[in-house]
Amino acid sequence: MDTLLQDSREHFRKRMLKKALVAAQIALDFARKEGSPEDVFTTCILLARIFSVNARYAMNGLFYKKAEAFLEEAESLNWVPEPEFKVRLLHAKADIKGFQVKVNEASEDLNLALAIAQKNILKEEEIKLLVSYAYLEMTAGNYEHSMQLSDQALDTFREFFDYEKNKSLAAEVYTQMAQVLVKKADYYHALEFGQLLLSISRELNDTEKEINALMVMAIVSATKANYKIAMQYFQEALVKSQNIGYQQSTVDCLINMATIYAHLYNYDDALARYNEVLENYRSQLDDASLIAIYNNVGNIYASKEEPDVAHPYFEKALILAEKNNLVPEASLAKAHLSRVCTAQGEIRKATELALEAAKSFNELGLINGSQINLLNLAELSYRQGDLDQAAELAMMGKEAAEKLLDDSSQIKAWQLLAAIFEKKGDFPKAHTYLKEFVKRSEAFSKMQLNRQFLDLEIKNALREKQKEIEQLTKENEYQALLLEKGDQIKKQNDELLQMNEDLKQFAYVASHDLKEPLRMIGSYAQIITRIYGDKLDDNAKTYFGYITEGVTRMNHLLDALLKYTTVGKSDEEFEELELNYIVDIVKVHLKVLIEESGAQITVDELPDVYSGKSLLILLMQNLLSNAIKFRKPDIPPQIHISASQNDEFVTVKVQDNGIGIAKEHLDRIFVIFQRLHARSEYEGTGIGLAICQRICQRLGGKIWVESEPGKGSSFYFSLPVHPLES
Ligand code: ADP
Repeated sequence: MDTLLQDSREHFRKRMLKKALVAAQIALDFARKEGSPEDVFTTCILLARIFSVNARYAMNGLFYKKAEAFLEEAESLNWVPEPEFKVRLLHAKADIKGFQVKVNEASEDLNLALAIAQKNILKEEEIKLLVSYAYLEMTAGNYEHSMQLSDQALDTFREFFDYEKNKSLAAEVYTQMAQVLVKKADYYHALEFGQLLLSISRELNDTEKEINALMVMAIVSATKANYKIAMQYFQEALVKSQNIGYQQSTVDCLINMATIYAHLYNYDDALARYNEVLENYRSQLDDASLIAIYNNVGNIYASKEEPDVAHPYFEKALILAEKNNLVPEASLAKAHLSRVCTAQGEIRKATELALEAAKSFNELGLINGSQINLLNLAELSYRQGDLDQAAELAMMGKEAAEKLLDDSSQIKAWQLLAAIFEKKGDFPKAHTYLKEFVKRSEAFSKMQLNRQFLDLEIKNALREKQKEIEQLTKENEYQALLLEKGDQIKKQNDELLQMNEDLKQFAYVASHDLKEPLRMIGSYAQIITRIYGDKLDDNAKTYFGYITEGVTRMNHLLDALLKYTTVGKSDEEFEELELNYIVDIVKVHLKVLIEESGAQITVDELPDVYSGKSLLILLMQNLLSNAIKFRKPDIPPQIHISASQNDEFVTVKVQDNGIGIAKEHLDRIFVIFQRLHARSEYEGTGIGLAICQRICQRLGGKIWVESEPGKGSSFYFSLPVHPLES
């Protein structure tokens, strides 16, 4: 039970939600049958937390219902929980409500829980509650109160806990601190907590907190115009968020990166990210963010002098802003739209919009955006021949642009003024303005060039970072990504079905092949409870040892089985892959095993293969690790990898000098859970080759073995040269 729960918690921390879920589900079944109400209670709360994180990441309310159902089960138990458990239940409830933005209900629960925690001097719970409360207030926009609560949590932590021994609690507090400090624009302190958090979260393998830390560091770097570093942090946060299916943070990263790219005049990369958000995550955006994106995209197209493309974006921004009664946003959208209309030659519409915008800018005393509108109005007057008014408006526009440090509007103002005075026949003035225009636009181009250069540097840095991240996450690639990328509810539902399918598989196997370890757990647990009661003597301790061993083994089997049932079901893209490169990656993964066994691996020049990268890695890795594992005790493994190719198939051979396999077993070894040795002789679960076979089938190929006992084995697999149509 403990091992399962520990396992589930560990996966939960890494936000491998599917794995966490499976372990907790099994724990719950077990607890319902054999365990104490306390076990059921704890497990239900864990399951509720897993589902609520799932709901939050996937932005799918369905999962909140599941979470709530588990809390109901916990509550309905025929068991009077200690205050600590009561607090946990309330806390979980509040978090679920908080994520659903039911702020009042959530704070009621939190206050109640806080009172119980304080009365019973449950300091750890108190701190966690304060953190949740601070988070709730932060999301509700009450930054001052959020800051107070965060400070209170930090003070309590410092007073009652030793940092070294309570890092995960510290991480909770620091995450909240760093985030609220960013909201309050106290970047100096945000950086301090962000850095601390980054190192603890990595140490604890806590992926969500790591993402939080990366985002904080990225935002702080961006506000200090340290774009290169900011982009590296965003990139890392993006990859990690995508990996765990955390959609909100994926969207945040994409938008932030797009904004920085736009700032660096790299319009293509900026647009690519905005479009990704609009295409894949639109339903997750609130109207305010959507308006901001439409305005930004429109601005990019306007700067690219593509007013026809820009037009509909500003129009959409305007419609949404009006629908939501957001007057400043609507005025800004009108100003932009008008500017685009001017460029398109729709003078009447442009004038109408610009006048409306000007009116509300004046009424609201807004300055941001007014420079654009004034200059646009100036241009309209100029075109209509009203030169005095044009000059006056252009001067006002120039002043507003200066106040706002808007270089490009200033340049536009100088240019417009030069044109106006030229038409007026005031050549000396026109000349002065023109000189100023030339001087400024030269400086501006230089700055633009500098930024573009910086953009190039960033590209390089990101490529490096990407490689680094890939290397780090490769290990995790196969470990069940329920929420990998999916965003639409439909996809989530499909995955839910898939998950159920997998769980069914588990149920099947749990009742057949896994009976033996399960029975072991059951009987030893019974022996302890019945015979020994609460006195734990040496025997009891030994039995406990068996129990843990059984549970661990069951976990291995379940993990392996999970791998088997999900293999090839990801939507990984197929591509032409260099087999030699794949072998190199596998060698890195197996470094320790290779070094310990003294294995010699020789590899011929191998052809390219059309496959999914992780599938191919998994296939090669299973074959190579078997070739090393089933070695003769006295001679180091010699392994040779070669390949041949005809029009239809690439055939790869992995030859070893190990113990070999008797003829009658050659087929059996590809069947799931079939092994030829006891675990004490050779570690394993008997699932590796079954996975290999599935992979080969999935790729339209096959796998077989030739072997002679005592002489070694040669495993062959052949894959079609031409990609499968599927
Ligand atoms: P596991 O390695 O976990 O036992 P596999 O499915 O990878 O599971 O292998 C099934 C069985 O096939 C192994 O237990 C072993 O008896 C046999 N086998 C696999 N590869 C080799 C090899 N290279 N040499 C000898 N026997 C092998």
